[in-house]
Amino acid sequence: MLDRFNSTVGVVDPSEAVPIIDTLSRKNWNLTYILNTHHHHDHTGGNAELKARYGAKVIGSGIDKDRIPGIDIVLKDGDKWMFAGHEVRVIETPGHTRGHISFYFPGSGAIFTGDTLFSLSCGKLFEGTPEQMHSSLQRIMSLPDGTNVYCGHEYTLSNSKFALSIEPKNEALRLYAAHVTQLRNKGLPTIPTTLKTEKACNPFLRTSSTEIRQALDIPATMNEAEALGVIRRAKDNF
Ligand SMILES: [Zn+2]
Repeated sequence: MLDRFNSTVGVVDPSEAVPIIDTLSRKNWNLTYILNTHHHHDHTGGNAELKARYGAKVIGSGIDKDRIPGIDIVLKDGDKWMFAGHEVRVIETPGHTRGHISFYFPGSGAIFTGDTLFSLSCGKLFEGTPEQMHSSLQRIMSLPDGTNVYCGHEYTLSNSKFALSIEPKNEALRLYAAHVTQLRNKGLPTIPTTLKTEKACNPFLRTSSTEIRQALDIPATMNEAEALGVIRRAKDNF
């Protein structure tokens, strides 16, 4: 992330330092902020080295202040933090980990969802319940449809295989999966996705789909959070 006017630079979830250092050197940029969505090493592994090299400030959830390496600025749900004059809204999105947060930039219509919302999936429930993940996803889905979603991993192609296996008649999903396959064949990223695409295609946001419920034997009496739990278990074993 770069603010063009005063060259404030931020990085979200640096798993390692070297690729970030290479990019910053090539562009002759400094690093001002490191934003962490959660404490996992594959999202914070570069914190210490980048902080030591650039003096960047590390930003993360207060809930995980003891688990995020080098944390300087502690945020909580509803906080509005300013990134070089751009408002950043903090949304607590537990489920994958208990201290997981997402960073929403309303001015540019972008959200960094870490390991909560992926394209065509959600994160594994390491420290949370299906109810928590469902409510976290609902909070993200309440943002405008056109919001660009930057998630923590490029898992879209493999996620598309599971999604198609339980909702093969979903035309929007079929088209999107074909597009994703094309992009990956060309070595291109599938991220960002949009909330609109995810609403139409992501099985974890489609817990009331009759086709998905039939495929996984989810009874009509089960609520959406319980259905999400069943879909999550099915994907864990896919
Ligand atoms: Zn994680």
